[in-house]
Amino acid sequence: MKVTFLGTGASHGIPVIGCRCEVCTSVNPKDKRLRSSILIETGRNVFVVDAGPDFRQQMLREQVTRINAVLLTHEHKDHTAGLDDVRAFNYLMKKAMSIYGENRVLDSIKREYAYVFSDDKYPGIPEMDLHVIDNHVFEIQGDDILPIQVFHNLLPVFGFRIQNFAYVTDAKTVPDSEKKKLLNLDVLVLSCLRVKPHISHMGLEEALDLIEELQPRKAYLTHISHMQYSYQDLDNHLPVNVFPAYDGLTIQM
Ligand SMILES: [Zn+2]
Ligand SMILES: [Zn+2]
Ligand SMILES: [Zn+2]
Repeated sequence: MKVTFLGTGASHGIPVIGCRCEVCTSVNPKDKRLRSSILIETGRNVFVVDAGPDFRQQMLREQVTRINAVLLTHEHKDHTAGLDDVRAFNYLMKKAMSIYGENRVLDSIKREYAYVFSDDKYPGIPEMDLHVIDNHVFEIQGDDILPIQVFHNLLPVFGFRIQNFAYVTDAKTVPDSEKKKLLNLDVLVLSCLRVKPHISHMGLEEALDLIEELQPRKAYLTHISHMQYSYQDLDNHLPVNVFPAYDGLTIQM
């Protein structure tokens, strides 16, 4: 299985428009962060988790020509604003794009992309095939996917586990019952917005405490804002098995 970080930034991306802070003006290419999303190639399927506003640019950069499904963590725009561009894959794969999310998230997609679901379809609009998931394992063409329900302040958000890899973003808290699903991981990807805690996101100490508790073999931090350390400074603050993710990073399992 191969995972590619399409984007590792928080909702603004880095640099933030108009910001001259140390992180936004860093010359290190690893401090340029598009909105968070990953590409998972299992050998059977190609999945993307979330399709934010940088989806088109990410697909071009990684030369992606095939996606079997989009898995949505939650409805926030930094995770869903790029879905109009699944059109390209409708042409390439000659089918509607399968999109998986919980009911509330798919209802939001139907509202935000009302033209896609209208009876009077404008020619050339995207084709989306919505699949409702709940907090139970589901299968897509031979791959089992286990949702993990975490909380983004009060909003339920799904993380996803495939084999011994899990991706958890926009989490503030993880219920004990869900933590069990995150044991025995080779790789955990976890969001870590900034150094200090935030009402709906983990700060650095909270993220490292959770990693310590779950004991994955390796962990990568993503969904990083300009209020987090720069890539290099963050790397210097992390334990040996925890790494800052960066755009374009690939990991093989
Ligand atoms: Zn987000
Ligand atoms: Zn900044
Ligand atoms: Zn969010």
